Formats: sequence, structure tokens, C-alpha cells
Amino acid sequence: MRTCEYCGTKADSEICPGCGARMPYAEEAPSKSEHSNVQANVRPSYHNVYDKEKFYQKSWFIILMLIFVWPVGLVMMWVQKKFPLAVRIIVTIVILLIAIGSIV
Ligand SMILES: [Zn+2]
Repeated sequence: MRTCEYCGTKADSEICPGCGARMPYAEEAPSKSEHSNVQANVRPSYHNVYDKEKFYQKSWFIILMLIFVWPVGLVMMWVQKKFPLAVRIIVTIVILLIAIGSIV
């Protein structure tokens, strides 16, 4: 998309449909540059990380730990950033409330 320098009309044509002036060349989209392509390749995808998980990094294992050995499960959950932050906070609060309740 080009923008006419004279009247501000946006068009893809060589000649401005608004005033008939020659349109300037459109700026290249930043996403098509080589630099951002390299960055996209370096960034690991979620699926690649998931495939390389060891058994103790699986969600179900952390959930089992949270149920049976909750301090271990809590540490694993936060260290591995297994669940969304909101879920981690809620799980931590719930477990701490149960733990406090069982002590008192
Ligand atoms: Zn124009």
C-alpha cells in the first residue's frame, strides 16, 4: 500500500487515484527482512519443547507430586513454568490454604 505525498490517498497503483500524481514506493514490511526470519527460526516452538520433555517434566507427574508431595510439586511447577502464571498462583494459594488448614 502506498500513500500519496500530495493528497494522502492510499492506493496500490502507480498513479494516485485522488489527484493523478505519481505514487511513492511503498516501504518494505519489516516481517519480510532477513533479520526477523533468522529470529523466527532460532525461537523454539512449543511443540519441539514438548516432544523433548522427560517423564518428570510431564504435567501429570507434577500434578501427582502436587497431590502427594506438594512442596516438591510446587517447586517443580514454578521452576519449569509448566502452567500459565495465573494457574500456578491459584494452585499455590489453594495448596497453601489446605496445608495451613491441616496444621491449624
Ligand atoms: Zn494524490
